[in-house]
This record gives sequence, C-alpha cells and structure tokens, in this order.
Amino acid sequence: MGDSAAPAPLDAASANALRERWTDVKQRIAAAAMRSGRKASDVVLVAVTKSGSIDQIRELVNMGQVDLGENRVQQLVQRAATISEWVGRPREIDPKSPQPPMVRWHMIGSLQRNKARKCMEVARLIHGVDSLRLAEELQAAAVRRESPMEVLVEVNVSGEASKKGIAPPAVRHMLDQMDTMMNLKVRGLMCMAPLDGGLDAARRTFERCSEIFHECQRSGAGGDRFDILSMGMSGDFEVAIECGANLVRVGSAVIGPPLVEELSEEA
Ligand SMILES: *Cc1c(COP(=O)(O)O)cnc(C)c1O
Repeated sequence: MGDSAAPAPLDAASANALRERWTDVKQRIAAAAMRSGRKASDVVLVAVTKSGSIDQIRELVNMGQVDLGENRVQQLVQRAATISEWVGRPREIDPKSPQPPMVRWHMIGSLQRNKARKCMEVARLIHGVDSLRLAEELQAAAVRRESPMEVLVEVNVSGEASKKGIAPPAVRHMLDQMDTMMNLKVRGLMCMAPLDGGLDAARRTFERCSEIFHECQRSGAGGDRFDILSMGMSGDFEVAIECGANLVRVGSAVIGPPLVEELSEEA
C-alpha cells in the first residue's frame, strides 16, 4: 500500500522489526511455494493478530497485508470495527485520496454456536467448522445474507482427543450434508498439526489432510470453488506449503513475542 495519510502509530524500531518479520515470512512462503512447484501468489498469508496490538495491525495493513486472523469472536468484532473505521478515514477526509487498503478478517479459532451470528457479521471466512450442529447454526444465522457465508471444515487428522474437527472418514458425509445448506459455501478444509511429534508428525498430518482435500475435490464433494486448504502456523508453515497448503495462518513469526499478558482473558 506504500505510504498512507494515516499516522504511523508504532515507534520506528517496532515498526521496522514488524516489517522485517513480515518480509521474512513472505519470503519463506515464496520459497516453499517454489519448492512445491507453485508461485508465491498461490499461497495466502493470514496474519494471525490475536496476540498483537491494534497498532501492529494498522502497520501491517499499511504494509499491504490483506488477510488478518483472530481466534476469539469478541476481539475479532472489536478489531474489525476499529480497523474499518481507520481504513475508511482517509477517504472521508479527501475523496480523491487513493483507495483505502483492503482488509479481510478470518475467524480461525473454534467457534461457539451462540457466537456464530456475531462472527458472521465481520468474518470473510470461518475456518473451524467442526460439527454439524455448528454448521446448522451458521446456516440458520446466514439466512438474510446476500451471499453465502464461506467456511472451511476442520479435520481432526491426528485423532487427538484434545483436538477439534471432523474425523477423516466422516468428512465426505459432512460435506454432503452441508451441500444442502444453501446459505453456506464450503471453500475447503483446515487442520492443525499435533501438539507433539515435531515437524515429522506435522508433515504426516498435512500430507493426510491434503489427500483428503484432493479426494473431496475429485469426487466433487465440496462442489465448485472447493479450493482452500488452510494448514500451517509459525512453526510449520513451510512444511504445510510443501504438502499443498494454499493458505497459512501465521501469528508469532509475524507479530513477535507477545508484549502484554492478556491472553487469558475470557473470550
Ligand atoms: C494462534 C493460531 C495460529 C497462529 O499460531 P502461531 O503459532 O502464533 O503462528 C494459527 N491457527 C490457529 C487456529 C490459531 O489459534
């Protein structure tokens, strides 16, 4: 986006450090995409801002980061409102100023059903649809939307009890059922690596999820535009891309270590 009329709210050193981390992550994404025979632009970076500050988000948006992710509905809604007000500001002051930067919000965490409606007001993509009941809630809440709510189905590839998501053998059935939900559009799958096992276990998980994704595509299960495979975080996004991810959710590698301990707040 280059420079904008908005003030630079971070001090120069913090802004520089942020830009360096962001640039580094983007370069690593590009290199991993190349290794898997794709272009850098084939992989979407969602910058996960849950442990960052609103000033860091503004700076990222100024730098041209479009996709932002949060994992708690309340913070997502508040931040989306703050950022959209800020993004809208230059245009109000000077109608001839360049287009405001574009921002798309992603809900990446597990979503409670009673927050589905609120979440849909701002989220462009909901990553973690992990039960039929949540899908039904979203479907009901999306009735008045002009276009279907776009979602990903979360797959519990590793089968860990602590993990959310649909078991691999049940994914096809889930997609078939969601096919009848006219206000939802399933754009693809999402998964997380196991907590233990390091990069080897992560790679096995991502490979399996990628297989399931392609099986679904081949069988036509997700319908047209079933084309997003969301996997990979700060510690494993390069492995995920090598296994076929075309969307990675990267937090700490971009944002840096958390400055304030406010992560235990109630969602
Ligand atoms: C926090 C979070 C991320 C990003 O994690 P980092 O390790 O900070 O990159 C990605 N996906 C989900 C679902 C998350 O909750």
